[in-house]
Amino acid sequence: VSATAIRDLSQFLNSLPTSAYLHIPFCRRRCFYCDFPVSVVGDRKDGSNSGTIQHYIEVLQTEICTTSQYCQEIFGVSLPPLKTIFFGGGTPSLLSISQVQRLLETLDQQFGITTQAEISMEMDPGTFTLEQVKGYQKAGINRISLGVQAFQDELLIKSGRSHSVAEIWQAAELLNQANIDNVSIDLISGLPHQTLEMWQFSLESAISMSPAHLSSYDLIVEPKTPFFRYYQPGKSPLPTDETAAQMYRMAQQMLTNAGYQHYEISNYAKPGYQCRHNQVYWHNQPYYGFGMGATSYIYQQRVMRPRKTWEYYEWVPTEKPFKLSQQNQDNLTETTNDQLLETLMLGFRLSEGIDLSKLAEQFGEEILKKLRKCLQPYDQQGWVKLIDDDGMPVELLPNQSYPSSGKLRLSDPEGFLFSNTILAELFNQFSDL
Ligand code: SF4
Repeated sequence: VSATAIRDLSQFLNSLPTSAYLHIPFCRRRCFYCDFPVSVVGDRKDGSNSGTIQHYIEVLQTEICTTSQYCQEIFGVSLPPLKTIFFGGGTPSLLSISQVQRLLETLDQQFGITTQAEISMEMDPGTFTLEQVKGYQKAGINRISLGVQAFQDELLIKSGRSHSVAEIWQAAELLNQANIDNVSIDLISGLPHQTLEMWQFSLESAISMSPAHLSSYDLIVEPKTPFFRYYQPGKSPLPTDETAAQMYRMAQQMLTNAGYQHYEISNYAKPGYQCRHNQVYWHNQPYYGFGMGATSYIYQQRVMRPRKTWEYYEWVPTEKPFKLSQQNQDNLTETTNDQLLETLMLGFRLSEGIDLSKLAEQFGEEILKKLRKCLQPYDQQGWVKLIDDDGMPVELLPNQSYPSSGKLRLSDPEGFLFSNTILAELFNQFSDL
């Protein structure tokens, strides 16, 4: 067997997903900033008494089965078992224990799940009991991501959240009683009426819970949301750009001082608790996506499922997560550029940065010169850092190309803070190479 054949085979095996995202699109009500594909079920509904949720779970199971059969047929090998699974939403904690159990059983039957798999579930305060958490845990869930967002009732109300601060503390207590050590907390900065003092208090409160992981997102006012109708970015009651930047710096400082590693632009973890599932996205690796509005990335094709329930129900029996037609092969050739942009855009989100030897291997040595030319103004600002293989910073002469070894990363916090500017420049320079 030639070295090329072995390399091709290993590349092929690496191109098979070992991660799965399941979208659970139900929420009690819609938050005022949210543009996710969700279906509002009201306060009383949960998975065990809702025909809508039950029907959705059945369609999801069908999608999982048809995807695995299709992949096995096309690839002609048995599929590798899943190493990470993520129940996102929506509010997956509206599902009953048996619904979660059934979905995990289906995944296990179709793909297998490794014994060390990370199996995460997003939960919202006020939507679960201790018995429920223990049941989810028994079914296999071993990581919880709790949607907290803020520690001020007034901000939660003005954001349309369905829970109070008291319910956040109750939820934390329940997770504690269930002995779940891998808990992540989501916070949002830049909310309307949020002051720096409020943000500081939210960070202090979150740190006092000692979660293993913390995500801190800066609010984006998305079109077609109530926030978009009520508020103008940068204008009161939304914080100014300068205040939003101060909030970012404050989070970076307080969380790193509290022992968290800032491993991704918006994510912090105690050592060993980085989210393995999200790293699959950031490293531009393949993954299955199941459910309304979910995206999959298989065979170098990103496929987004319809965002409307009835369209998704029609999609499942008729569509496939990737195609093999000649037309698609042509598209694939054209997307080398897309792959380069994705690798840069995703890689710069990570504090470990981009591996220059892999970049040169995948896209050719020439890319290092072009990248340097594009990033030189930001190098000078101190927003881009070159690190050698021993982790030491490297200074380059003006007009010198990046070497084909070491890592290129954005500085923390300033490079991360101005990442939109840097990424927009990369996009302009590389989108029509
Ligand atoms: S709980 Fe999450 S998914 Fe549901 S409406 Fe609010 S932000 Fe959107």
